Amino acid sequence: MDFLPFTRPDIDEDTIADVVGVLRSGWLTTGPRCSEFEAALSAHVGGRPVRVANSATATLEFALRIAGVGPGDEVITTPLTWVATANVILAVGATPVLVDVDPATRLIDLDLAEAAITPHTRAIIAVDLAGLPVDRDRLYTLATRHGLRVVEDAAQSIGANWRGRRIGSDGDLVSFSFHPNKNITSGEGGCLVMNNENEVRLFEKLRLQGVTRHDDGTMDVDMLGGKANLTDIAAAIGLGQLKRLDAFNARRQALARRYFEQLPDDLGLVLPPEDFQHGNWHMFQPLLPLADMQGTRHDFIAGMREHGIGIGVHYPALHLFSLYRGRGFAEGDFPHAEDIGRRTVTLPLFPAMQDDDIDRVCTAIARVLPPLLGRAA
Ligand SMILES: *Cc1c(COP(=O)(O)O)cnc(C)c1O
Repeated sequence: MDFLPFTRPDIDEDTIADVVGVLRSGWLTTGPRCSEFEAALSAHVGGRPVRVANSATATLEFALRIAGVGPGDEVITTPLTWVATANVILAVGATPVLVDVDPATRLIDLDLAEAAITPHTRAIIAVDLAGLPVDRDRLYTLATRHGLRVVEDAAQSIGANWRGRRIGSDGDLVSFSFHPNKNITSGEGGCLVMNNENEVRLFEKLRLQGVTRHDDGTMDVDMLGGKANLTDIAAAIGLGQLKRLDAFNARRQALARRYFEQLPDDLGLVLPPEDFQHGNWHMFQPLLPLADMQGTRHDFIAGMREHGIGIGVHYPALHLFSLYRGRGFAEGDFPHAEDIGRRTVTLPLFPAMQDDDIDRVCTAIARVLPPLLGRAA
């Protein structure tokens, strides 16, 4: 039987033909296709300005710089995210202030976030883990009350909505990722939704060597910028994917529903929040009943692999990585994030999966987990 990975991008033949067209065009780097991709993304978020870069790590870092975050500033975020979210805080010389997650949603606990605000707090990075949006009403009420900038790390939540409004249509600075594991991809890439033309001009300078090009053909460099522009090759992939986003997300939702129907309910798995209203089902992540298991998560993953099924881990709590322990974080700081981070497993979920792939995963779990619980399979 074919190996079933936990995710796999779906690139159609039209997109492949379009990429070939770019390769034949003689223009590979940032050009007309990137502009077209930016316009399409802007239309997706109701006309707000959007610029692309070669990763969401870059767009998150630029968002912090646009928000004026630097040395001496504190930025509040969650420990239960891809480490990029916290790394960009360090990259701009600011201090990450982590607070625990709500165990029900697995998203940042906004009461704890509010309690962590100090005179040095400059911004909050909200992460829509698994594509489930953080409560935007509460988030922006808190930010407004305390005069904070918000960076929405929406790397996983493109196409999700908050109360019927697409993520990115409202709010402050919103970053999406087009890494191949995300709901749509450009190979690698990311984009930032901004508020005004001043922010766009700063983003463009940060993206490419600090360069400003003037209408009269001259240029200037008035600050240090990096090198994070997207290629037209990547933009062509992204354009082909964006057209299919709604269909992809509808398929993900149907597959997630099938997991809820088919997963065995007598093995102590804790299922993800059953939200079919807001999220985009970027991932489907049960928690293993680790306390009752004789084996480890690794044993479970290895057992599933023997059945031809790939299982991911997204993510161990980031404050337990050496870099963050070295900055004073320790085991026990964020018990919910640590518990989820130890028990979480990402089951296969991608639009090209068939219904019976879900059944196959569920059958394999029903064989692999009981022996690890000391029961007959
Ligand atoms: C993927 C991801 C990122 C980083 O995106 P890249 O495009 O790989 O740089 C940041 N935050 C979260 C939550 C992510 O899932």
